[in-house]
Amino acid sequence: MNPTIREPARNVPVIADADICVLGGSCTGVFAALRAARRGARVVLVERQNGFGGMATAGFVNCWHSLHDTLHREQIIVGLTEELLARLRRRKALIEQPEKYASYVFNSEELKIDLDELVLKHGVRALLHTTYCAPHVENGELTAVFVENKNGRGAVRATVFIDATGDGDLAAHLGVPFAVGDNLQPPTTCAKILHFAQPSTAFRELYNTHREEFGLEQDYGWQGRLPGLPEVTMVAQSHVFNANCADNDQLSAAEFEGRRQIRAMMDLTRKYGDRLPVLVGLPSTIGIRETRRFMTDIILTEADVLQGRRFPDAIANGTYRVDVHHSSGGGFTFKYLDGTQRVVRDGGQCEMSRWRDETPENPLFYQIPYRTMTSDRCPNLLLAGRMIGADRGAFGAIRVMVNLNQIGEAAGEAAFLALHDGGRVRDVSTQKLRHALTEGGSRML
Ligand SMILES: Cc1cc2nc3c(=O)[nH]c(=O)nc-3n(C[C@H](O)[C@H](O)[C@H](O)COP(=O)(O)OP(=O)(O)OC[C@H]3O[C@@H](n4cnc5c(N)ncnc54)[C@H](O)[C@@H]3O)c2cc1C
Repeated sequence: MNPTIREPARNVPVIADADICVLGGSCTGVFAALRAARRGARVVLVERQNGFGGMATAGFVNCWHSLHDTLHREQIIVGLTEELLARLRRRKALIEQPEKYASYVFNSEELKIDLDELVLKHGVRALLHTTYCAPHVENGELTAVFVENKNGRGAVRATVFIDATGDGDLAAHLGVPFAVGDNLQPPTTCAKILHFAQPSTAFRELYNTHREEFGLEQDYGWQGRLPGLPEVTMVAQSHVFNANCADNDQLSAAEFEGRRQIRAMMDLTRKYGDRLPVLVGLPSTIGIRETRRFMTDIILTEADVLQGRRFPDAIANGTYRVDVHHSSGGGFTFKYLDGTQRVVRDGGQCEMSRWRDETPENPLFYQIPYRTMTSDRCPNLLLAGRMIGADRGAFGAIRVMVNLNQIGEAAGEAAFLALHDGGRVRDVSTQKLRHALTEGGSRML
C-alpha cells in the first residue's frame, strides 16, 4: 500500500458546459460526438492524445473488417464508417479488398485529419491533450468530470456522459463493476518498417529460428500494408505477455518491452534477413487489446455471437469472428459463425477443426444490444468501446472497429434522446433509438 497525502480542497473552474460529454476520441468517441452534434446537441469531446482515432491512429492499427454478412450478400454496416471510407477513398488513402478479412486498409495519418475536419465542421468542442481524471458526483448524480491539461485542472459539466476511453476509466471510478481476466488478450507494439522481411511466413521462419538470440519469446503475429507505400510494412508480429494496461506501472513496462521487441525483431532481420530494415515510425501508444470488461445491464456471450442471436434492442451488426489472442505462448483461437475453428499455437502450428457440428444453414451476422452499454450504477452514463458488457469470447468478436464504430454512433444518438428525460440513458426507448440510428444513416436489422 502506498503512503498517502491529503490534497487540499480547491475550487476548480468549469471550462465547458455541454449537453453531452464524450471522454476518449477514437472513432468510437468521435462518432458518438458527431451523431449527437448532428442532432443539435452541444458536445464536448475530451482526448488525451494530440488527435483523434485512438488505436486506429495513435496505435497504427489501420485495418477495418467486413461491412457485409458472412456470405457477402448484404451490407450490414453503413453509417459513419462508410462516410470515413468515402473520405479516405477520395484521397487514395485506402486499400479495398472487401472479400478478405482485412477488408479496408487505410492510412492512419489521413484518418486523423479526416476526424479533425469532421469534429470541427460539426461544432464539437474538442479538448485535445486533455486527460479525464475523476467524476464529480453531487447528491448521487454525475454532474461533471474533472480533466487536466496544460491549463491545469478543470471541470466539464454535462447532462449525459459517454465513456469511450477504451479502459472505461469513468465507469470504473463510478463503481460500475468490471472484470479484468487473468488471461487478458496481450498488447502489441506496432511499427512501420521499411524493407521488413516479406512475406509474414518468411519473417516467422526467421523469428522461430533465431528469436532466442535476440531475447524474444515464442510468439505469433501478423503484418500488413500501407496504402501507396508498398515497401513499408505495418508490423504487429509480437506481444507483451502478462500486462494489464489499465495499470500505469504495467502499462509503462509494456511500452518499454514493446519497443524493445521492435528493435530485437529489426536486429534479427538485419542479421538474418535479405534486406536491411529501416524503422519509419513507432506509435504513440502500445496497442491495447483488452483491459476491463464491465458488468452492464446485459452481458453479450460467445454463444450469442456465434449463434447470431437477434436482439430487439440491437444497435450494431457484425461478422468479425471470435478472435482470442492467447495470454501466453504466442497463439490465438478463431471461431467462425459457420462452426469452424482455427487454433494457432507454439509460434505457428495451425489446427483447423469445428467448435460445433455442421448445420444446413449458418448465421450470417450477430448483433450487439443497447443494454451492453448501460448500467444501473449510473443513470446518465453510456459505455462505448471495447469495455462494454461481453464475456471473453464475445469480446474477441466485438472488439474490432467496424463494430465499435457502430457502438459509438448508438451512444451519440442515445445520449441525444436521453437529454429529453434528464439524461436517463436506461430509459431511452430502444425503438426510438433504432429509428434515430436508421434516420442518421445506420442499418438496423
Ligand atoms: C495490435 C492490435 C491489432 C488490432 N487489429 C485490429 C484490426 O485489424 N482491426 C480492428 O478493427 N481492430 C483491431 N484491433 C482492436 C481495436 O483496435 C480496438 O479494440 C479498438 O480500437 C478499441 O477501440 P476503443 O474506442 O474502445 O478504444 P481506443 O481505440 O483505445 O480509444 C480510446 C481513446 O480514449 C482516449 N483515452 C483513454 N483514456 C483517456 C482519458 N483518461 N482521458 C482522455 N482520453 C482518454 C485514448 O487516447 C483513445 O483515443 C487491434 C488491436 C490491437 C491492439
